[in-house]
Amino acid sequence: MTELHITNLSKHFGTAKALNDITIQVKENEFIAILGPSGCGKTTLLRSVAGFIDPTAGSIRFGEQAFFENEDTMPVEDRQLGMVFQHFALWPHMTIKEHLEYPLKSSQNKKRFNEAVRKEMIRQALQLVELEDFEDRYPNELSGGQKQRIALARAIVSQPKMLLMDEPLSALDAHLKQVMVQEIKRIHRATKATILYVTHDQSEAMALADRIIVMNQGKIEQIDTPYNLYHYPQTPFVANFVSKALLVDGEWQGDRFRPAEANELSWPGTGVADYFKANRLYPIRPEELSFQPENKQRGGLRATIKDKQFLGRETRYIVSALGTEIEIISHSPHAAEMDEEVYITKH
Ligand code: ATP
Repeated sequence: MTELHITNLSKHFGTAKALNDITIQVKENEFIAILGPSGCGKTTLLRSVAGFIDPTAGSIRFGEQAFFENEDTMPVEDRQLGMVFQHFALWPHMTIKEHLEYPLKSSQNKKRFNEAVRKEMIRQALQLVELEDFEDRYPNELSGGQKQRIALARAIVSQPKMLLMDEPLSALDAHLKQVMVQEIKRIHRATKATILYVTHDQSEAMALADRIIVMNQGKIEQIDTPYNLYHYPQTPFVANFVSKALLVDGEWQGDRFRPAEANELSWPGTGVADYFKANRLYPIRPEELSFQPENKQRGGLRATIKDKQFLGRETRYIVSALGTEIEIISHSPHAAEMDEEVYITKH
């Protein structure tokens, strides 16, 4: 098994700890998203695996290969990884075919692949990104989405065991992003490569990854499946950044929670992390909430309608509650009017 083992990895820039004692084990063929806000260390982690950055301490092993161990660094080209960056990094003077030939000729693969084999590998890579007839074009003859597909084809052409991607979709518009998310998943299934994918976009990470590493200030907050991160955040940072949860104050009584502002309510605590229980908090997502006008509902958290936006299929209500503004989506455009007092409950 070609597993990736990152152990006690740190990278300091002067006094700044860009990576602070990171330990991760990635299974073969796993799709891992590295998610976190700007400056949390995502790119430093990816570039350390790629070999562009020498870590300060720790080790990185990929299968039998020691990428970084005992302060010894394996050169980038020996790691044989595929890489895709935010800005496609295509050369204007080279055709698509030349772009794809480059990694095959310049890497250690040089000796193994004769021209006929190279041609077939290029054909396969272009077929995978559905741009088979584009070999003779130049980058300025491609759309943004096509450029990113070519960058992907270049990364996979030499059939690497691991692909590193740094915000590869951030230069694309929302629609194209969605299309490319599907494409990347298809390519992952076809190549069976292990993928490390850096993003600050929580929905992109959830849509793509088998597991997500959530980072904050050079440290790992939680490594988990998208489902578990969403339903069972372990820290306030994850609750806020991934689950978009509110933290409600109140009292825990065994495995049930009573919100301070409406202690006649009682919510189940299955799966809520110990941190929240110890700090008398309950993480709750806005989509778990609904509201009722005062006269229909006894009990609930008091709230006021601050804005109402009719969107056709649904209506977005912005309500002021729990000292903040919460977005609640309703299928009824007549559920409440502006400035009306309502009562919020968990459904
Ligand atoms: P972004 O999403 O904005 O790209 P990131 O999560 O990828 O952010 P990194 O680029 O890994 O963050 O940076 C982590 C921290 O290390 C930041 O505080 C950054 O300022 C610092 N840093 C990164 N590279 C250097 C460098 N070459 N010299 C000094 N500090 C650096």
